[in-house]
Amino acid sequence: MKIAVLKEVGAETRVAAIPETVKKFAGLGATVAVERGAGVGASIADGDFEAAGATVGARAEVLKDADIILTVIGPEPDSVAGAKKGALLVGALDPAGRGDDVAAYAKAGLEALAMEWMPRITRAQSMDILSSQSNLAGYKAVVDAGSLFGRAFPMMMTAAGTVHPAKAFVMGVGVAGLQAIATARRLGAQVSATDVRSATKEQISSLGAKPIFVEGVAGIEGEGAGGYASETSAEYQAAQAELVSGHIAKQDIVITTALIPGRAAPRLISDAQLATMRPGSVIVDLAAEAGGNVEGCVAGETVERHGVKIIGAVQLARTLAADASALFSRNLANFLTAFWDKEKGGVVLPDEDEIVAAIRLTRGGQLVNERLKPAQ
Ligand code: NAD
Repeated sequence: MKIAVLKEVGAETRVAAIPETVKKFAGLGATVAVERGAGVGASIADGDFEAAGATVGARAEVLKDADIILTVIGPEPDSVAGAKKGALLVGALDPAGRGDDVAAYAKAGLEALAMEWMPRITRAQSMDILSSQSNLAGYKAVVDAGSLFGRAFPMMMTAAGTVHPAKAFVMGVGVAGLQAIATARRLGAQVSATDVRSATKEQISSLGAKPIFVEGVAGIEGEGAGGYASETSAEYQAAQAELVSGHIAKQDIVITTALIPGRAAPRLISDAQLATMRPGSVIVDLAAEAGGNVEGCVAGETVERHGVKIIGAVQLARTLAADASALFSRNLANFLTAFWDKEKGGVVLPDEDEIVAAIRLTRGGQLVNERLKPAQ
């Protein structure tokens, strides 16, 4: 069994394997071939991969006869034309946004597996790239906010007087939001947070932050279906807007992370609400790519409105390439290990398995995932 690790292109800094996972694959009896320079963005030298037992070479050599191809964001289909038919292509392939590429992978005979469609079930937690990368994004959002904020986060009592603690508000308490709360708390800010899912109230309190919740109008009971939020009623949205208006004017730092699967991000902060904030405040909108939670947010840019800086954060995990690569690589290794058949000496993916059904996009030249089939 040969595993190929591709060098990513464009703005991507991460890599889909690290020396530790190379050793793990070797332990399973696989050989690993890494494309030259694949680890550069994550500070891993070719020699580090070689020391772990991999061979390093050009793409054509690496792909030749590979049974499994590991990638972070999915290669240009033309660039993997030399791959063996039936090879597994495993990574964050963005099937919702890059349907043409997925169709091209099918045409090339690759079996494409989209790791971002991993079901949110206990068995799959260690394979969940959305969680591992969102967690880092939540941390980095606070650090980035801190670097643009002209004040300190913690309270400091000095001979020259007292520095008051910053007030941070986290909107959307999924994986990224929880880490944003924890990070802002560690830096000494006074933290509050809100979500539509009632189950998050306890999680917010357990991290030492103050839950800010709409009372008297039903939001989403418990975890929500599949752990995710859905759209709330117009009545709830009006109550939430009023609650936010009262709270946001007193905040220095706001981190928004609210997403609803399959829909544009909900608008949580209007321009009128921004105008009530103190000049110098900083907002990081982690939902920027999905349309943004903040009015006027621009994905990939920092804009200033009413004296408030709004960071339209995009792919923050890329800015922590070493850690992001390590976690992403372990997610892939955990997936492959879970389906490794020792007798056959390779990965076996049963059709009926819940994980396989959720992430398998293409097989035998066809699109096989239910989510890719046109609605009847
Ligand atoms: P997400 O990125 O889809 O959304 C971020 C947060 O925004 C969510 O908490 C959501 O409820 C919230 N939100 C949506 N609309 C909002 C609004 N109008 N106002 C305020 N908040 C709003 O979420 P995620 O980080 O992917 O996590 C979703 C859930 O999945 C969580 O419950 C998490 O604990 C769970 N999870 C489970 C597993 C597992 O069991 N394998 C792994 C990861 C996450």
